[in-house]
Amino acid sequence: MRQRRVPDVVVNRLPLYLRVLSEIDVDHAPIISSYELGERTGITPGQIRKDLSMFGVFGKQGVGYDVSILRGELRRILKLNRIVNVGLVGVGNLGQAFLRYGADRQREILSREGLRMRAAFDQDERKIGRRIAVVEVYPVARMPELIKKLDLKIMILTVPAGAAQEILDRCVASGVKAFLNFAPVKLTVPAGVRVHHADFTLQLESLAYYSREWEGNEEQT
Ligand code: ATP
Repeated sequence: MRQRRVPDVVVNRLPLYLRVLSEIDVDHAPIISSYELGERTGITPGQIRKDLSMFGVFGKQGVGYDVSILRGELRRILKLNRIVNVGLVGVGNLGQAFLRYGADRQREILSREGLRMRAAFDQDERKIGRRIAVVEVYPVARMPELIKKLDLKIMILTVPAGAAQEILDRCVASGVKAFLNFAPVKLTVPAGVRVHHADFTLQLESLAYYSREWEGNEEQT
């Protein structure tokens, strides 16, 4: 039987639940109620129960969820119960910051949930062969070979906007189906390929909308 398509908003909430559960010391708190999970995620208990029931996960009436079991279920649902190898393209300022951030947090955040940063790629000769935090920088020409060899499932794009589509297309041609895009550009993808955008510029611009409320004036540019 084909699984019913789960709405993106639900999938996006699952890592939030997982993060809270991963922070809990199960020896001291083996059970969590949907109320408490709600308090710690800002999501209503009813919504949490509904989200989890979509995957056939139910708590015990009047008791709650077994923390270890629920954590295991969420990792299985998110497919983080096995290693997911990640690559990065564009080892400029942002790419390097991401790699270093990833390294500092590898054991703590990334690796805790099965994600592993495995390789970085760039076209700049001066960067190729360098080691940044936990990964080596390879030439983009080697992407197809290394995507297969290292089984890279997710690619992080930290190239300039003008290069992002071409890099994405090359990764897709090598079988990558998931991207985290930091380039400030809309990308076109074939069916079955997913892009999550981490566009700082858009985020800042929409925040700017609210800045007027803080200032309480109507300054025009
Ligand atoms: P830097 O000055 O160190 O290059 P930057 O963050 O200002 O840093 P950007 O112009 O934003 O650099 O480029 C980000 C990175 O993407 C750089 O390392 C650049 O060499 C790389 N890059 C640009 N175009 C491509 C491409 N088509 N393929 C692979 N890497 C690319």
